[in-house]
Amino acid sequence: MTRIAVVTGGTRGIGEAISLKLKEKGRHVIANYGGNDEAARAFSARTGIDVRKWDVGDHQACLDACAEIEGQFGPIDILVNNAGITRDATIMKMTFEQWDEVIRIDLTGCFNMAKACFPNMRTRSWGRIVNVGSVNGQGGQIGQVNYAAAKSGIHGFTKSLAMEGARFGVTANAIAPGYIATEMLSTIPDNVMEKIVAQIPVGRLGQPEEIARGVEFLTSDNASFITGSTLSINGGQHMY
Ligand code: NDP
Repeated sequence: MTRIAVVTGGTRGIGEAISLKLKEKGRHVIANYGGNDEAARAFSARTGIDVRKWDVGDHQACLDACAEIEGQFGPIDILVNNAGITRDATIMKMTFEQWDEVIRIDLTGCFNMAKACFPNMRTRSWGRIVNVGSVNGQGGQIGQVNYAAAKSGIHGFTKSLAMEGARFGVTANAIAPGYIATEMLSTIPDNVMEKIVAQIPVGRLGQPEEIARGVEFLTSDNASFITGSTLSINGGQHMY
């Protein structure tokens, strides 16, 4: 049976690697994106993966998109909540809009998508939800009260969802990436990036593929006894 997988923010960066990995493992992947049509078109042409545009921060858009996907391909078995943005500024300078946008997309987006997919997973007694958090949700970061709050919230959201799904064959786990070489890091100045890399014990940034391998495992049948956990993939940068 081919499992249907939806990857939000699945056309670029870490999401692209996740979409590719799940496809490689035989899942039927639908990759969502938010606005970059050109990148999505190029990704789809390169990979043959179906792309769909909607804003994960828009509750009704998530419900509509998932209903359309399920009508076309069948029930969604796997949800990877990967879409995320940063709007960095210290709290002295952060506007309400910067706070609100990050919470809406990074955290409420996970709720919107789970709300759309969880009921059918529960009914069919099988589902896998993976939410992409962050090392900065675990440890905090200057200039990121919005992002750290959203990502930290993802970890609590995941544990609660895991409790609700456990008796119904639906697992929910989080992945907390460390610093991964994608466009998201392009706004960080070189001198700051050097300091960040110096704090990573393995001495380098991670690659999107290294996150994708973790997601693939957590969404597989092999991970049926793992729920409510956070898999940190960060080169040793932050350890509990
Ligand atoms: P990128 O900026 O490279 O890609 C982000 C993806 O999310 C794009 O596909 C983008 O679509 C999509 N997206 C953004 N906003 C929305 C929206 N409102 N609705 C739907 N899709 C949206 O990010 P990364 O690959 O670096 O990050 C992926 C995830 O990993 C994020 O949640 C991020 O917070 C997390 N993470 C990243 C780390 C890193 O070092 N890179 C570290 C820790 C966590 P579009 O192409 O249309 O813009």
